[in-house]
This record gives sequence, C-alpha cells and structure tokens, in this order.
Amino acid sequence: MVALQNYQYLLDKAVGGERLTLEEGQRLIESHDLAALGRAADEVSRRLHPENYRTYSIDRNINYTNICTAVCDFCAFYRKPKSPEGYVLERDELYQKIQETLDLGGEQVLLQGGLHPDFKLEWYEELLRDIRQKFPGINVHGFSPPEIHHFTKVSKLPLKAVLERLKAAGLGSLPGGGGEILVDRVRRAITRGKALTDDWLNVNRTWHELGGHSTATMMFGHVETLAERIEHLERLRQVQDETGGFTAFICWTFQPEHTDMADVPTAGAFEYLKTLAVSRLYLDNFRNLQSSWVTQGLKIGQLALLHGANDMGSLMIEENVVSEAGTVHHLSLDDIRGAITEVGYVPRQRNVHYELVDPKHEDWAIEANHLRYKEICKSFGQSRYRKNEPPVPLTIVRGDSTA
Ligand code: SF4
Repeated sequence: MVALQNYQYLLDKAVGGERLTLEEGQRLIESHDLAALGRAADEVSRRLHPENYRTYSIDRNINYTNICTAVCDFCAFYRKPKSPEGYVLERDELYQKIQETLDLGGEQVLLQGGLHPDFKLEWYEELLRDIRQKFPGINVHGFSPPEIHHFTKVSKLPLKAVLERLKAAGLGSLPGGGGEILVDRVRRAITRGKALTDDWLNVNRTWHELGGHSTATMMFGHVETLAERIEHLERLRQVQDETGGFTAFICWTFQPEHTDMADVPTAGAFEYLKTLAVSRLYLDNFRNLQSSWVTQGLKIGQLALLHGANDMGSLMIEENVVSEAGTVHHLSLDDIRGAITEVGYVPRQRNVHYELVDPKHEDWAIEANHLRYKEICKSFGQSRYRKNEPPVPLTIVRGDSTA
C-alpha cells in the first residue's frame, strides 16, 4: 500500500487552490490512501461550493437509434446496420418520452444514439426543429462528440458549420459521452471507427467557441493505466483553460457485463471514489463534479458527495446504455433527495446550467414523481406504496427497466 504521508504537501497544495502538475496527479492516483484523498477532495468541493445545498436534475436519456457503424468492445448497446434488432425511434414515441419527462418535472432530454451510416445533417436538423416546435421550453442536451464528428464525415461538412447548423436548429448543449479515455493508445485498443482524442476535444473546443456549453466524462477501469487517467484529465483541463465551456465532469467505472470485454474485472467502489477524488483535486478549473449513482448504486453514489462530487446527477427517467451492459440501479426522486439530506445538505433541483430551479417547480416535481409511482404500483397490481422504497422502476424500456 502506498500511503500519503509523503504526499500531504500535494493535498495541501490542491486544497489551497494551487494547480497540480501531471506528475503530481500521477503520484496521487497511485496512492491507496482513500481517506486522505477523499478528505482533501471534499475540502476542495466545499471551497468551491460553500452553500448548504447539493444539487440534482431531472432528465431522460433518449437513444434515438442503436444502429452504429463503430465497434466499441465495451458497448453492449449498439447493433450493426441491418441488424434485425436495430431501431430508429419514431417521432410519436420520441414525443411521448419528452412529454413524460416534462410531466415529471424534467427540463431537458439527453439525446444520443449510435453512429448511423445513412443520416445526413438535415435529418438531425429536422429532428431538433420538430422537438423545438413541439416542446419549445425543453433543453436538448444532445449528440456526443463522436456523433458530431461522425456527422461531419457523413455530410462532408466542416465541424464548425455542422455545429452552427445544429445550434440554429435548436441544439442546447453537448453531452460528454464517448470520452472514455482521451489517450489514442487506449481508444485504438477498444474502439474502431470512432473519434480519436483530438477529434473529441476539437468538437468541444469549437462548440465552446460558438458560445455553447458541454460536459466532460471519463469511463475508466478497463485497459488504461493510472497514468493515462491523469493524461485524460490533463487534456480536459487544457481545453477548459482555453474556453471555460465545460459545465461539469462525470466519471464512472466500465461496466463489462454483456460486452466483448466481459472478462475484464469490474473496478470497485475504492477505485471509483479514489479516481473521483483525484479528479476533484486535479481539475481545478471545473466547478462541478457529478456522482455516478447509475453505475455505482445509491450507497456509493451518496458517498461520492463526500469525495469531491457536488451534484447527484440526474434522476434519469430512462437509461439504455449501461443497463444493456447489465448495470441497472433504480432510484426514485425521494432516494436522491434523501441521499443528499443524509450527508448534511439540502437537496435542490437544478437546470443544465447549474442554476437552481424555482422552488415552486421543485415542489411540483416532487409531487408529480410521487403520483407517478403510485400509478405504476397500481398498474403492477401492488397496493403498497412507500415513499422511499419504489417497488418497481419508473419506466420500462424494451424489456430493460431503467429509472
Ligand atoms: S459506444 Fe457509441 S460509438 Fe461505440 S459502439 Fe456503442 S453506440 Fe457505437
């Protein structure tokens, strides 16, 4: 075990707001002193967010297609073009999902899909315009950097033009999906036909230059080294220095079940919390770090709030990607709010810009979620309903249940 006695000055440095070097980040992530790392990350989080609340959002992950030309060994979600299991969502189903999100107090949808071989940019513009026309108030947090990169190839258009046109059609913000590990050695080992590191970063950089915001992610615990995790953080920090356009960072552990990498041992809670804590210490120019309860479950997701995260992420009414890889954690709004309360903070709903929503809307959303659970219990023939113990998931998706 590598303890941190000799590294206390590094923790003090980060807690005091001084920037860690690449080499210092690597030394920290090689340590095993989770308690010391977590305490320091929590201090940084409290310095950046001295307020008495911690936040969450309500949204829905809508996957408009699972057809994908790329091959990612870690992905159990995609289907090859022409697969009988491939789908493209019909508008009616899409609209229904958005309406349900609004009915539960959500203010945005996370719209992502596979890399479809046939759709030109016009298809995505029409999709955005249709959503904007029918639901003018909802934020479309849509199209991960690999999708945007793919649109430039299929439509043979420059990146800036693609982003400008999507923005004009109603795209609100970009999700940070497809980041995995931003080191080409790793990307080449686990993906084929997908954006490499510079492509991923350039999409974000260009979007930020157009005045847009995005999130950044890291999926770790597969073939990367510890040093490559820090290299990933370093690349994100550099772009954030240039643009300031990332609103948040979210990291999670690779979920191997049902994937071509099912033999890779799953990284556990220790690795998750340690990496989250080091990320908080290293990413000195990121204001917000999210907990990933979807992959870690409620208990570790809650502890993330004491290891550098200041946000519980989203209620996530629907999720299809990690659930295809065997990881399905269901949380109700009460669970998320209760987890925040238990660690000593007031739970508050936020929007995509990390602004608190009107308390009246928040109260209404809480009530709407209670009513929805009661309805679902009834439809499952269960008379029992207990606030903090949802007996069934919030929605049922193609045989996979997600919350
Ligand atoms: S992770 Fe995305 S790009 Fe890779 S195979 Fe799955 S859907 Fe396609």
